[in-house]
Amino acid sequence: MPAPTSTATPTPVPLPTSTPTPEALCDPAFLWAGQTISSSGSYTETETAAAGPMACRIERGDCAYHRLVGQLDPTIVFKREETPPFDGEDILMHPAMLYPLSRLNALVLNEWGGDVQLRVTDAYDSLLEHDLKQTNPARKYSLHFEGRSIDLTTWPIDLNRYPRLCALAHCAGFDWVQNEGDHCHASVKAESLCGQC
Ligand SMILES: [Zn+2]
Repeated sequence: MPAPTSTATPTPVPLPTSTPTPEALCDPAFLWAGQTISSSGSYTETETAAAGPMACRIERGDCAYHRLVGQLDPTIVFKREETPPFDGEDILMHPAMLYPLSRLNALVLNEWGGDVQLRVTDAYDSLLEHDLKQTNPARKYSLHFEGRSIDLTTWPIDLNRYPRLCALAHCAGFDWVQNEGDHCHASVKAESLCGQC
């Protein structure tokens, strides 16, 4: 019986193509104080264009207030400096914020190896503690008022890390990020809870 001869031609094995992770594609490495960046990577797009306009100011007890969600991840530090019961507001946010926030928390832990934690200094705000330049309460405008903005720092506080923290917030999927110098302000584009009630 003749020895079998191999006639099969080897199928070329395609070279492995690495699938870049979102972080690997993420650019820039740093967002310097005063800079803003939108989800499309634009440094000039406004927050309103990137994340949508403020639809209303949610007041405590509103129908929309009850649709805010609490982020209770014990690995994230929450400042909660307001007087009770308002100290709970730092953990309250639009549901669309949960995913980018937990992504960012993972990126922070990965970046600094546990020496640094992510801290939230403000999220939803019923006390109108944003837009401080506007002295007329009726005209105050901020996505914090509907839970679509969040203010972030490192813990321990280290201003030198904020350019990296803000860049990581962009990588994590926030739709608009601003390095405000003493914190990163990050917003999400999502249907306002005000429109759901
Ligand atoms: Zn803010």
